[in-house]
Amino acid sequence: MAVYKKTLFDFTKDELSQIIKPSFRAKQIYGWIYQKYVNSFDEMKNLPKDLREKLDKEYILSPLKIIAKEKSRDGSIKYLFGLRNGLSMEAVLLPMKKEIKDTEGNITQSSKYTICISSQVGCKIGCAFCLTAKEGFKQNLSAGEIVAQVLEIKKDNDIASNKRVNIVFMGMGEPLDNLENVVKAIRIFSDPDGLSISPRRQTVSTSGLSHQIKKLGEMDLGVLLAISLHAVDDEMREKLMPINKAYNIASILDAVRNFPIDARKRVMFEYLVIKDLNDDVKSAKKLVKLLHGIKAKVNLIYFNPYPNSPFQRPSEKDMLGFQRYLRDHGVTCTIRESKGLDISAACGQLYEKKRV
Ligand code: SAH
Ligand code: SF4
Repeated sequence: MAVYKKTLFDFTKDELSQIIKPSFRAKQIYGWIYQKYVNSFDEMKNLPKDLREKLDKEYILSPLKIIAKEKSRDGSIKYLFGLRNGLSMEAVLLPMKKEIKDTEGNITQSSKYTICISSQVGCKIGCAFCLTAKEGFKQNLSAGEIVAQVLEIKKDNDIASNKRVNIVFMGMGEPLDNLENVVKAIRIFSDPDGLSISPRRQTVSTSGLSHQIKKLGEMDLGVLLAISLHAVDDEMREKLMPINKAYNIASILDAVRNFPIDARKRVMFEYLVIKDLNDDVKSAKKLVKLLHGIKAKVNLIYFNPYPNSPFQRPSEKDMLGFQRYLRDHGVTCTIRESKGLDISAACGQLYEKKRV
């Protein structure tokens, strides 16, 4: 097996301060990497030269390389990242609002960004509608490989280090199946001396591993939770998501009820709407019932077809009808814009394109 140099991105500031003495160096290094965006140890000017040389011998900075990049008409940019062992995975930059400048060039409305990141190469969960599932599972990403996706995307788009970004774990993989590294990445993201992304701007999306939801909740990190529900009864959910045999809808809702969440926030339920399968008002009715008593919001997602996909995109009429029913019954509900549809922005799709 190839032996690689360690990457500095794999370490929390506390861990770094144990390794590199004196301990205040960790804070300086964090600043150089995550706020000043340096690309070499030599640029870390306030570190003594011998330390810079030592670090250069033992560590690399980023463990990722950008292999491909596709820009969509709506402004979202999808990245294919290569790991050092030759595997690849993807992340997407989703600009949420356009930057508007006045005639003087002053920004009158600032842009907002969400970065959608991967937690694994491939996935074990095997959902019937998901391209990532088709490849099977390859490996967990390390904390550094998760963190690097955000940093590389910020750098590549000249997004200032103090600009707020949101993180969603909605790329490839099941984050709660790689809990240890995901939690470490969340801690690194949150560090005020680093990327300084508040946990309330980080959303972990899961296919519903109830016992892991419980574990994440017990850590009380302050992150937001999104549940990929997609069906309103166990029979249908088992067909779409075989994991439902191990963790059924009731067990997921139970875990959600016990998840610590900011008083002003809600748990997001993602509902992939598939033509003639779960797009009817009867399903909407059941969904309202299921979510009764939970501080929930629903995000309806258009199924995004791919070559030979077994399902179809729902009609706009059915989608709006579904949304209207939920809203009329007091459930907050948004429809996920088809961001990057022309670059196939649903998870796994750029990856697949590059392979064929
Ligand atoms: N494994 C986690 C997070 C990654 S999946 C989870 O399942 O929640 C990210 C999102 O992409 C999920 O909500 C999933 O439903 C959605 N997705 C997968 N395939 C899709 C497709 N073909 N069209 C639209 N969304 C899709
Ligand atoms: Fe894995 Fe999520 Fe895709 Fe299901 S939808 S196979 S859990 S990445």
